[in-house]
Amino acid sequence: MQDYIDLAKKNGITLLDHGKCQFCGANTKRGIHECLEIFNFGFYDIDFSNIENYIYKFLIVDTHTLQHPEIHGRWNNHFHLSRLHLIFKYGVKWTYKLSPKLSDYLNKYKVDKQDEYLTPPDVSNRGHITTIDILEKPTNEMECKDLIKKWAMEVYNKWGNHHDIVDNIAKNFLNMKK
Ligand SMILES: [Zn+2]
Repeated sequence: MQDYIDLAKKNGITLLDHGKCQFCGANTKRGIHECLEIFNFGFYDIDFSNIENYIYKFLIVDTHTLQHPEIHGRWNNHFHLSRLHLIFKYGVKWTYKLSPKLSDYLNKYKVDKQDEYLTPPDVSNRGHITTIDILEKPTNEMECKDLIKKWAMEVYNKWGNHHDIVDNIAKNFLNMKK
């Protein structure tokens, strides 16, 4: 997990070790490090061995990445926003098989789009729901799932400026898949 420290450095960001998460505003004590721990280990209400629950894994990864783009590579924004768009707008039932297909498509796409950046929303404007809420608020699996969906939808909408771009990606991806 040193990756995110290196990526932040590369992006010119100093990671803060205390207080709230500097990227999503989660009410943590150890900042982004704690936020990532919750992301990695905290959603224990959901049984991820059940195939029907995979969708929540995808939503969690996409949403957390888009709330913390400074600790990821820039093309991750394209991938995760496109995936949320495919799930929310086109009702795609995402599976593990589709992720490498979307990556392959984006690898070709980005050759001609080297100047295309999806500028993230300001840190104060990435949605009210954070990892801490998902960890602390739900009292059962159903509530946890509902909150993850709301979290994902909220963050997806905060990236609304770029929905046009990912809509093109989504359409081409769906055509390619036929
Ligand atoms: Zn955070």
